Amino acid sequence: MSTLAVAGEKTLNQIPASALKGVGAALAAKLAKIGLFSLQDVLLHLPLRYMDRTRITAIGALQPNMNAVIEAEVRACDVVFGKRRSLVCKVQDGTGTITLRFYHFNNAQKQRLVSGTRLRIFGETRRGASGLEMYHPEYDELSTAAPLPLEQSLTPIYPATEGLTQPRMRSLALQALTWLDKHALQELLPERVRRQLKQSSLADALRYLHQPPTNANIQQLMDGEHPYQQRLAFEELLAHHLSLLLLRRETQADGATRLNLDEGLQARFLAQLGFNLTRAQRRVVDEIAADLAKPIPMLRLVQGDVGSGKTVVAALAALAAVASGKQAAIMAPTEILAEQHRLNFGKWLEPLGISLGWLTGKLKVAERRTQLAAIASGAAQVVVGTHALFQESVEFANLGLIVIDEQHRFGVHQRLTLSEKGTSGDENRRFGLLRPHQLIMTATPIPRTLAMSAYADLDCSVIDELPPGRTPITTVVISDNRREEVIERVRLACEQGRQAYWVCTLIEESETLEAQAAEATAANLTESLPHLRIGLIHGRLKPAEKEAVMASFKANELDLLVATTVIEVGVDVPNASLMIIENPERLGLAQLHQLRGRVGRGSAASHCVLLYGSPLSNNSRERLRVMRESSDGFYIAEQDLLLRGPGEVLGTRQTGEMQFKIADLQRDSHLLPDVKDAALLLMSDYPQLCNQLVLRWLGDSQRYLQV
Ligand code: ADP
Ligand code: MG
Repeated sequence: MSTLAVAGEKTLNQIPASALKGVGAALAAKLAKIGLFSLQDVLLHLPLRYMDRTRITAIGALQPNMNAVIEAEVRACDVVFGKRRSLVCKVQDGTGTITLRFYHFNNAQKQRLVSGTRLRIFGETRRGASGLEMYHPEYDELSTAAPLPLEQSLTPIYPATEGLTQPRMRSLALQALTWLDKHALQELLPERVRRQLKQSSLADALRYLHQPPTNANIQQLMDGEHPYQQRLAFEELLAHHLSLLLLRRETQADGATRLNLDEGLQARFLAQLGFNLTRAQRRVVDEIAADLAKPIPMLRLVQGDVGSGKTVVAALAALAAVASGKQAAIMAPTEILAEQHRLNFGKWLEPLGISLGWLTGKLKVAERRTQLAAIASGAAQVVVGTHALFQESVEFANLGLIVIDEQHRFGVHQRLTLSEKGTSGDENRRFGLLRPHQLIMTATPIPRTLAMSAYADLDCSVIDELPPGRTPITTVVISDNRREEVIERVRLACEQGRQAYWVCTLIEESETLEAQAAEATAANLTESLPHLRIGLIHGRLKPAEKEAVMASFKANELDLLVATTVIEVGVDVPNASLMIIENPERLGLAQLHQLRGRVGRGSAASHCVLLYGSPLSNNSRERLRVMRESSDGFYIAEQDLLLRGPGEVLGTRQTGEMQFKIADLQRDSHLLPDVKDAALLLMSDYPQLCNQLVLRWLGDSQRYLQV
């Protein structure tokens, strides 16, 4: 069957879903709510799972968590008033009894389920209060006069949507399939790509997936590994990849001011550092310098393990901006880290006569006004801050470089708004919009597969070497019921002149609750360790208070610092060589790795105690094992991805970025090399297809369409 569009005839993306029988305004609105506007959208709304309804199972043969078809007779049907009112219906087939339970039901339904009625029931079994139960199964009444035929193909189960039942979704999909015979789908993968990758047409894939034949490999379909599913996953990954490449091209089309490092200034900067750059740092600085010297905005990601020395690399880039008469903005994800950068940049840059600006959300009104004025006039040459830097009210005189530290907390879209901050007020603006160069530094290494898909718009540099003289951290995993031993260990370490962190974690993302937990822990530890000087730091303290606590810990006026995860990033106290992390099982591996990176910064042997609450789940046990066995951020990142999935690792689960309809980054990572090649080919040889692919898979949630 040809899938090529006949000239003048509409393709399925141009025909509204309301062309389907039974789709009136109300239903169309429901469909629109889940992004289904055209017939193409309906066809691309694929089943999540499949059920085998081609045969009947005896109740006696059912196991929990099984999808099955049964035929049985109603024995009793009653409304039960428990915690929630429900309709409970017992059915029997000669081999056994099972309970059907409905929380949503109406009177008519109850009246029809009288004793003796024969039903064919489809549903998933689960272990309930009264033995096996099915919640909200689908069912049909059986009559002896007209026997119901069994399904001839596997039954697709669509993503659940309010107000749209499974039978409704199925009938819409089947109807839409019939349109495939008369109207073409846009085939957006060029013949050349499909032939090379041995891929089917889109139409064939959709026909199969909405209506798989009885002999289809149901396990393969359930796992999303059927070639037809992989065909679609490939196209979706390609569309995401293209969207990032298009974004990159759009950004770079605007041009940028060339920034050149001043050799003398750089030499003075390096001379006062007190250490030599590692080979890896020098290499990355060179890569950045080469980008900055071009009239195209740099889009570069710097990856480096905790403590690999990314800050000084960022400072050198900022120096290039200043040397070229431009401003640099350094954005950190937390107040504490921003404060730390301010101290470092101040220490490094102010002796060179460079003036520093400072902006966070917590500044007093008057101070904020002063800072805004300095930023707007250009008096502040390097500006350090939190995301407050990029609020609309902030105007830069001539921003030439943006450094975003610990990028994984900012999404692609945020990145974009930042670069649009651009160069308002720049005298070059009349020659077209110039964008600042962008340098993005990650807190933790990103697994290769994720970097390939989530950061396709960025060039990548890796600092794969730690400064010399670091001692490896020994990590132990200890149960909470040996807390006393751990406290004793803290006492010993501190008596030997070392310092320690005690980190409190919470499940909820509540600064207040977390602060309370840390306060309680600090009080308990003060009681147990009366001779130690104990400090407390958490997110609820005022910036000045935090700064004071950090300063006294740094000056060795405190032995033990009880902290929340606010100290996760950046905090640098080389004399601290012991860290206790309470309930580490609550944190992701990347976060644990970050936390642990606060110790092992000096020459003393460092230890990290993961003090878990028992019992541990298998997954938690596994994650803590990874932490005990490795201190390699790249390895830990790969394991984190395996154990938690890409949404958690990228921190995009909440924002919805990098969410796929069909593809699964982990399962489908083997497709990525081909996706990358195909993306480059399409960008060069089939530019119109690029936009159409993005439109099909990312829809109007994206702004890439304007390209
Ligand atoms: P991260 O990559 O985790 O952001 P930082 O930039 O905070 O690491 O650097 C960690 C510590 O290492 C800082 O105290 C920094 O001054 C120091 N440092 C950075 N580069 C070197 C180097 N080449 N030699 C010695 N110490 C260095
Ligand atoms: Mg850092």
